[in-house]
Amino acid sequence: MAAKKFRVQIAFDECKGCGRCLKACPKKLLAQGSALNKQGYLAVEAAEPGNCIGCGSCFYQCPEPGAITILEITEQ
Ligand code: SF4
Ligand code: SF4
Repeated sequence: MAAKKFRVQIAFDECKGCGRCLKACPKKLLAQGSALNKQGYLAVEAAEPGNCIGCGSCFYQCPEPGAITILEITEQ
């Protein structure tokens, strides 16, 4: 069976830019963006979202429900 693959998705306008997820990610996939979202925060962006290992660290550190979603990539 092939190894599972994951993708991290950030809801741009839900992020508060607190940076907890950046510190939590063991793969350093997340970075502070340079654009303000509708709440006035510098939202986080996923640099290489497809390299996510699905560990969930970012998700559990995030205080904003709905800001981070981790998706399992299913091969067709
Ligand atoms: S699930 Fe893990 S590897 Fe993926 S972005 Fe979050 S902290 Fe990084
Ligand atoms: S932990 Fe959540 S609110 Fe904080 S920067 Fe990351 S995605 Fe945004």
